[in-house]
Order: sequence, then structure tokens, then C-alpha cells
Amino acid sequence: MSQYLNVPFTEKDQAKALGARWDGQTKQWFVPDGISAQPFAQWLQQTHTLQSSLIAPLYLRTSCQPCWRCSKVSRVYCLGASAINDVQYDDDESQPYSNIVENENDLIDVCDLEDIDTRLLPFLNQHASTYRPAFSKTKSSKCWMNHCEHCDAKIGDFFLHSEPGGAFFPMSEDESTITDSIMFEDGNFLFNGGFSF
Ligand SMILES: [Zn+2]
Repeated sequence: MSQYLNVPFTEKDQAKALGARWDGQTKQWFVPDGISAQPFAQWLQQTHTLQSSLIAPLYLRTSCQPCWRCSKVSRVYCLGASAINDVQYDDDESQPYSNIVENENDLIDVCDLEDIDTRLLPFLNQHASTYRPAFSKTKSSKCWMNHCEHCDAKIGDFFLHSEPGGAFFPMSEDESTITDSIMFEDGNFLFNGGFSF
């Protein structure tokens, strides 16, 4: 089975030069059969590290945020789940324990997303192409970030989820620009990342 890759647009030439191929149907790069995936390690989905899962119904949440760089209003995205199976390790990392987190009146927002179930990639690519993995200077690591749809500036999750008045932190219902569209009705989807209410 071909291995799908998580290649940011700006790194596509690099992936192509190494032999990655483009799947026009799923809009993803992949490692062709018979080629070692090792040179592509930086773009591989690290599914073995995924622990927690999003429990469907799963939503794509869309909101609006003024861009810090060009000042235009851009659409921004995050995943919303009805419940999360949150898996944590004790300090000695021996025993994982899990805990179902639910939000009675609203969805749980996924933020600081590091890795996501590959089954969601085609949907995200198609409906939220400005939300994709990028290098975050604040975190010194790669994570999913929104990008301004006008100037491609990275818009960090902190501004969207943790700043009062941010796209996913409206101060009142009237102020909210969040719309939810359903992605999957059922199923569990592994992820690595944080979440907020
Ligand atoms: Zn912008």
C-alpha cells in the first residue's frame, strides 16, 4: 500500500525531487510502491504516536479572523468534536489512562494539532486548504496552522483559540462568526494535539 505524505505546499518540489508522486484524487503526495519511505520521514504521518481520538460526529469549524499582516479578513478553520477520548501517560510513562471529555452545549475545538488521522486529510485538503502543517516558530516544531487566504501569513492557534475575541473565542453569541459543517457522522479519529472548549 502506498504511504501518503503530509507535504506543505512550499516543500512540494523537494518531495517531488525525492520521487514522491501526486494523487490527484485525494490531492496528496505519496511514496510509490517499491520505493523506501525513509527519505520522506519528515512528511510521514506518525500514526504510531497517535493516542487520543476524536469521537464523531466530527465537524469542520470555520470562522473569520483579521490577518495580522495584511489586515484583510481571512477564513480560518479548526476541527470540532462532540467528544474526545483523551489518553495521557503517568509521569513514568508506564500506564496510559484515558478519559472521555465531553462538552454538553457545544463542540470541543481541536488546537495545536500535531498529527491527524490520515482519513481526514482529503477532506481537509479540499475544504480547508489554508489549514495545514507548517513550522511554528513559537512552538519550534511542526503543527497544523491556519494561513491567511490573501497573503499566506501563518495565523497561530493562540490568537484564534486563547485570545478573547479571537475567531474561535467569541465574547458573545452575536459576535460569533463560527459555522460548523459535518465531516463524519461516526467513527473515531486518532490525533495528537490539544483542545479547548
Ligand atoms: Zn494576510
